[in-house]
Amino acid sequence: MKRREVLKKAGVGAVGLGAAGLALKPRKASAKKVYHWKMVTTWPPHFPVLGESADLIAKWVEEMSGGRLKITVYGGGELVPPLGVFDAVSSGTVEMGHGAAYYWAGKHPATQFFAAVPFGLNAQGMNAWIISGGGQQLWDELYAKFNLKAWPAGNTGVQMGGWFNKEIKTIDDLKGLKMRIPGLGGKVLAKAGGNAVLVAGGEIYTNLDRGVIDATEWVGPYHDYKMGFYKAAKFYYYPGWHEPGTTLECMVNKKKFEALPKDLQAIIVAACARSNMWSLCEFEAKNESYLQILVDKHHVKLRKFPDPVLAQLKKYTVEVLDDLKKKDPYTKKVCEAYEAFKVQYGKWNEISEESYARLKYL
Ligand code: CA
Repeated sequence: MKRREVLKKAGVGAVGLGAAGLALKPRKASAKKVYHWKMVTTWPPHFPVLGESADLIAKWVEEMSGGRLKITVYGGGELVPPLGVFDAVSSGTVEMGHGAAYYWAGKHPATQFFAAVPFGLNAQGMNAWIISGGGQQLWDELYAKFNLKAWPAGNTGVQMGGWFNKEIKTIDDLKGLKMRIPGLGGKVLAKAGGNAVLVAGGEIYTNLDRGVIDATEWVGPYHDYKMGFYKAAKFYYYPGWHEPGTTLECMVNKKKFEALPKDLQAIIVAACARSNMWSLCEFEAKNESYLQILVDKHHVKLRKFPDPVLAQLKKYTVEVLDDLKKKDPYTKKVCEAYEAFKVQYGKWNEISEESYARLKYL
């Protein structure tokens, strides 16, 4: 009697109780179900690396699931506007989204810490913080407020400082400058007297070319070349102080994700992790050859921001983060966790990566 009750509770009928029956019956039922999901992105359709990584996540999920989870990817504007991704996934209009968390600063200021912080962590540091340093738990907690869950799904590495139509010799050269620069970097530019605007990727070139904006930052040589910015501005600055290791995100509607069978959940997580590594490798492998094309073939003037300009921007960053901590207790919590990790990671980085990088001067 006891044994029958246990089996009854487990939802197994009295017939076909052999090991094979137990293993096969429930699996067969779920194996039949094919899920059709939609993924909206902040990128133009099939955009190099960024949009491609969204396409690849869909491809890998379908392959790993044996066709049980099919994801149709939509570029920004195809189904919802590029900056409408967060709302579309949060509300459940679509199941998935791909973008970068700093686009959602207007939803919650703390989102920005999961994309990029000026003078903050590089790609290795961001991955270390999110994956193994407690960042993912904070991200989960924050996104749960919006019925969302997200994972790192790409990284640009250290970006370039941007494209300008004039030389930046002192901090005053940033005054009145209308620049496309998202997230906290934009707030720092505002402290320097500049005017930060947020424009989705697909519209930047036209805005720069028509003089709607004076300058833009984007990613790095490989991607910036594909965007054609060299045709609209001639000074190309480094380093990307504002985005030292921007994390891209793949988000899901939490309720719909939790309703998936566990194996399909694990497959989505695995595809995001693969994409996280793939995107960084694409940029790291290709940036230098495209920088050479920009400089040699298109006569782009490569410039480093003067140290006093960078030092002043760093001071403004401290002010921006202090302002942010006053906004709400959760943002303060995330900011302090990020800063504590950055200090610890920085110490180790000095012993490891920075010491190694200095070997070239021997
Ligand atoms: Ca950027």
